[in-house]
Amino acid sequence: MSSTKPIRIAIVGVGKIVRDQHLPALAKNSDFELVAAASRNATVDGVANFQTIEEMLASDVPIDAVSLCQPPQARYLAARAALEAGKHVFLEKPPGATVSEVEDLKAMAAQSGVSLFASWHSRYAPAVEAARSFLAGTAARKARFIWKEDVRKWHPGQAWIWEPGGFGVFDPFINCLSIVTHILPPLHVTRAELDFPANRDAPVAARIDFAGANSLAATAEIDWLQTGPQSWDIAVETDAGDMLLSNGGATLTIAGKKVEDQPEREYPALYERFASIVRAGRSDVDVAPLQHVADAFMLGKRNVVNAFFD
Ligand code: NAP
Repeated sequence: MSSTKPIRIAIVGVGKIVRDQHLPALAKNSDFELVAAASRNATVDGVANFQTIEEMLASDVPIDAVSLCQPPQARYLAARAALEAGKHVFLEKPPGATVSEVEDLKAMAAQSGVSLFASWHSRYAPAVEAARSFLAGTAARKARFIWKEDVRKWHPGQAWIWEPGGFGVFDPFINCLSIVTHILPPLHVTRAELDFPANRDAPVAARIDFAGANSLAATAEIDWLQTGPQSWDIAVETDAGDMLLSNGGATLTIAGKKVEDQPEREYPALYERFASIVRAGRSDVDVAPLQHVADAFMLGKRNVVNAFFD
């Protein structure tokens, strides 16, 4: 598409992440013009509003692209409808509820000649590229992924995250996996233990072991009941010293010295990337983080733990 005309975009599933991140990022990006929204119970000021994506796609509002920001369980059918209508598609993370449905969308986008973007916002955290460059120049030996946060603080009242396909504690941990699969050599899950609250269909905590080439070993400690300080850390022992990527990818410390600590701008960077792939006629769909989640569920031992109440 023309490199000067704004991409007319619509948002689907107006909830927390749309209000916190998508609307502010789009408002500041002249590559996009927000023209519509589709949400059953919410609207966006100043644009055409619809209750469903189907109504929106059937309307006469001209739309080039859609951002799908519903929970993962609702993403596939909406993405299919948008691709069939010839729209470029931005998928919030995780890009789908299963690996195969995302592969299916990837094939559909290639066939329709439109761009599909599986967005992984944590990959755009400010210190991630510096960590990647550091690791590219040395050998990683051992890694620890510590992702511990308070679900009551970050997901108040959200029911879908506890339902099948909502991923439970893997909803935040997939952010860690999106960084890990970008900065470290390939890993695979060798053992997993998942704690399911007695009254929920998705895990609240997990412990996972991974292995990779050249004896690389990694462990993950994931917990959704962490009160007080929150931990989003990736620690790697390398031949060039210890590396700590902390604060969800915002801060990088190498051999005890802080080398990167910048303010975050993940969503502005995501929309810059989406504009660039749309303009270039490409897609960007990496299922590796989602595959690790699937593997942990497939291989994981299931423990039943205390019921969870909001
Ligand atoms: P949310 O606050 O629950 O908003 C999602 C919206 O999607 C809902 O308000 C709902 O709006 C719509 N929706 C459509 N189908 C739905 C269904 N079957 N069940 C529930 N809602 C449905 O969730 P969110 O926190 O914005 O998260 C949405 C996606 O963004 C998730 O994939 C999440 O992993 C990702 N994300 C979230 C955050 C965060 O900090 N919250 C950060 C990064 C990424 P209507 O009822 O109006 O249709």
